[in-house]
Amino acid sequence: MTACLAHYGHPPRALFITHTHMDHVGGFERLFVHEYFKRKPPGRMPVYVPANVVPLLHQRVGDYPNALAEGGVNFWEAFQLIPVGDWFWHRGVRLETFAVRHHWPRTAFGLRLPGSLVWTGDTRPIAELLKVYADAGELIAHDCALTGNPSHAGLDELEREYPPGLLERCVLYHYASVEEGEAMRRRGRRVALPGEALTLPEPISGIMDGS
Ligand SMILES: [Zn+2]
Repeated sequence: MTACLAHYGHPPRALFITHTHMDHVGGFERLFVHEYFKRKPPGRMPVYVPANVVPLLHQRVGDYPNALAEGGVNFWEAFQLIPVGDWFWHRGVRLETFAVRHHWPRTAFGLRLPGSLVWTGDTRPIAELLKVYADAGELIAHDCALTGNPSHAGLDELEREYPPGLLERCVLYHYASVEEGEAMRRRGRRVALPGEALTLPEPISGIMDGS
């Protein structure tokens, strides 16, 4: 939320939850306060959540007794919680989801806007999935550190397992430090920087009236 405010001057207009590790959902409490008190009426921000992830998300952020000290409100009243399956609509745009490899099966998901963007979320290498879910020239925002570990992909692994054409479309993020990012860039890779805004290719289909 901090980065979104800094760049756009407002909180995100909608969320997709990839998984429920706290570095991905820890900002929800602050967002609740904003949406509940500043949005009139509250409860309009769509929060798209893979159906398998809904119970985990509720345990992590929604189940604390009394969202406000004075009571009288449920956590999800500040949002429009939308459980989703393999695909969903956002304002007339069709997006796809796919389970990635991050800890327990089917607890972490990637997101695709066909022809435009694939966002892997946190994942180990997923060459076989990207062959299917990134086959239309998408820019691929990919979890990647300099070396892999049981949670995250490493550049050594992606260079071994991904075809060059696929790797060239990857913008690497979730690396450990500025130095790591520099080292990855020196290896010829595109590395996302804090605050950087990426220009995306136009989506190829599935757009209806998005007004
Ligand atoms: Zn994670």
